[in-house]
Amino acid sequence: MRANTPFSFEVYPPRKPELQAELRETIQRLAEVGPEYITVTYGANGSSRDSSLECVSYIRQNTAIDPLAHLTCVGSTRDEAEALVRQFYGAGIRSFLALRGDAPEGTQPGEDFLGELKTAADMVALIRSVSPYARIAVAAFPNGHPDSTRANQDIEALLAKQVAGADFAITQLFFHASDYIEFVDRARAAGVTIPLTPGIMPVTTANRLARIVEITGLATPQELTDALAAAGSKEEQRAVGIQHAVDLANAVLDAGAPGIHLYAFNEHETVLEVLRRVGVIE
Ligand code: FAD
Repeated sequence: MRANTPFSFEVYPPRKPELQAELRETIQRLAEVGPEYITVTYGANGSSRDSSLECVSYIRQNTAIDPLAHLTCVGSTRDEAEALVRQFYGAGIRSFLALRGDAPEGTQPGEDFLGELKTAADMVALIRSVSPYARIAVAAFPNGHPDSTRANQDIEALLAKQVAGADFAITQLFFHASDYIEFVDRARAAGVTIPLTPGIMPVTTANRLARIVEITGLATPQELTDALAAAGSKEEQRAVGIQHAVDLANAVLDAGAPGIHLYAFNEHETVLEVLRRVGVIE
């Protein structure tokens, strides 16, 4: 058993109003097993501002679990970003994932899309100024950020986020435990001291894997691709994805990871099964 291992989940706001009841049921089922926090994503360029706020407020008011709100600053003035943070703070939210955010679709190479806050480190500093005791997480990229132009740029960005006041980082998903382990070694050697929580995604269908590779720019993991292709039914593919996530979680925990963060895809059964099989919950 790994009964004392901290764990957490990510959900996203419902994409259609009719999915809200289902998400609330999922949140209740995730909350029952006692995660440290449940994070709620923030749609690109603020597209989910109201539904993200609604979702974190639901978690705060209806569970005993701390909601952690993802917020982005891309394309905003400083005043707009501050108004956003104050809106969530006013709703009782005290935990945040401070992000820069992606360029809007259609941005031309070289076009300035950033706004007044240029990096996630600026967003960390802004949140700190609004809420000195907030719990602030940031993103980390074991396989490099797609915008990185040179080696170590991601580690420098992570250091800048730490200096600005980040409490811990959650990593982008990765497919091999060595990606995380080597990244932690490089970060520690460069002076990063905050906990680096591995983000683990059970990839339960071949279609999902293809989509993830497209969105993240990660290299296609051949073994997982082959295993999902060889699995016949949906159930067999799900078993492959769960086993892969279980193996990753065990390997990174054995290597000293401070906990695990599971990308739940608004569905509780798969991530709970992963936690059971790793021995984190009964
Ligand atoms: P930053 O850390 O500011 O920068 C990204 C990269 O730019 C760095 O890794 C580095 O390569 C370079 N860089 C930045 N600052 C410096 C510096 N000082 N020195 C050197 N290089 C630098 N997006 C959403 O829109 N909504 C979400 O809810 C969301 N959730 C996420 C959750 C997690 C766990 C992760 C890993 C990502 C998430 N993203 C989300 C994606 C994120 O918005 C994108 O990665 C975006 O392109 C950059 O945001 P960032 O916070 O990583 O930016």
